[in-house]
Amino acid sequence: MDYFGYRQGEIHAEDLPLSRIAGEVGTPFYCYSTATLIRHYNVFCEAFPGDDFLLCYSVKANSNQAVLKTLAKEGSGADVVSGGELRRALAAGIPAEKIVFSGVAKTAQEMAYALEQGIFQFNVESVAEVQELNRVALSMGRVAAIAFRINPDVDARTHAKISTGKSENKFGIPLSRARQIYADAAALPAIRVQGVDIHIGSQLTDLEPFAQAFRRVVSLVGELRADGHDISVLDLGGGLGIPYDRASTKPPLPLEYGAMVRRIIGPLGCRILIEPGRLLVGNAGILVARVIYVKQGADRKFLIIDAAMNDLVRPSLYDAYHEIVPAVESSGPMVSYDVVGPICETGDTFARARELPELKSGDLVMIRSAGAYGAVMSSTYNTRPLVPEVLVKGGDFAIVRPRPTYDEIIGLDVIPEWLDQT
Ligand SMILES: *Cc1c(COP(=O)(O)O)cnc(C)c1O
Repeated sequence: MDYFGYRQGEIHAEDLPLSRIAGEVGTPFYCYSTATLIRHYNVFCEAFPGDDFLLCYSVKANSNQAVLKTLAKEGSGADVVSGGELRRALAAGIPAEKIVFSGVAKTAQEMAYALEQGIFQFNVESVAEVQELNRVALSMGRVAAIAFRINPDVDARTHAKISTGKSENKFGIPLSRARQIYADAAALPAIRVQGVDIHIGSQLTDLEPFAQAFRRVVSLVGELRADGHDISVLDLGGGLGIPYDRASTKPPLPLEYGAMVRRIIGPLGCRILIEPGRLLVGNAGILVARVIYVKQGADRKFLIIDAAMNDLVRPSLYDAYHEIVPAVESSGPMVSYDVVGPICETGDTFARARELPELKSGDLVMIRSAGAYGAVMSSTYNTRPLVPEVLVKGGDFAIVRPRPTYDEIIGLDVIPEWLDQT
């Protein structure tokens, strides 16, 4: 559930009409709803009542400081995948002891910074990485608490580009080598083995792949404990999907996910970490755009809007479906549009043959479910200014990342001296 919908015939973000924000900010822009963010955070926490549980929000889904701070105030931890994200999480007030550091290849500098800050856990993905972490920690006189990310070789049944738990994917250590790798790591002087980590993919709409992977974790934990390791933390990753197409996708609810986790993992008596990203922020954000032109092609109508693939790349990168909704309610006849952006790429297409009420130049539309992997993946391709972000709370809104000016964008480039001497 989210807080974007029609009131008196016009889309509102919480208590604000979109047209009002668009009038002040200009289009395109991302718009986030505080109430939706908080609701999603609480829904997840309610799915793990009474458990020794920490939600580590996956910062890469949406790393705006205002979004992070909203979640931090609710008590959220963070899952980061780079030194930059770690700095963002700390800057937003998420305490180091609630932060886990994931990612395939952390550098020595990133490790040193994380050790200095005293994060809760490194999720390590290779033998080479644990050896490097040991070396860095030793040189600082610290001990690094770790979990290994296990690659359970299960099919997450999601888009190939966001499936991460198959043996052919680059992520994690193979389950078959886990016991040996844990034994070797436990012998390293600056490493403390405390957990097992897993993350099999994103936008999962079925609980079964999770359950299959978690069952493999349970038997591994049994073996590791028998080998003498003190395994007290299970990081189950993120990945729970959201209904991008609300008419046809019904992903499992966090409550059902939580019950499944408790059934399978509960008996181990571990601290449970989960790292949802998309589920917290996806439906808490929309992309608002204006129609520039309507163009009649040979056999189809193009709705050309002022947002493009540089602002929201998911449709062209993942063939992602996003609902598109006119800002003003209409009961007129439906028209089939290809909804496209102005960029010089055929991939700059948000939707094909989408049935929408008739729209004209200047009309506002909202692209739904754009809060996750939207703004964070945006670029300035075609020298289009980075899309601004707005956070709404009740009847208030704030620009939480402004649109850069053209001078700011061009000013980032540097002319070498030899070109300057005219
Ligand atoms: C991306 C990622 C997540 C979050 O995935 P969602 O599908 O957004 O919930 C969690 N953990 C790790 C390690 C990730 O890479």
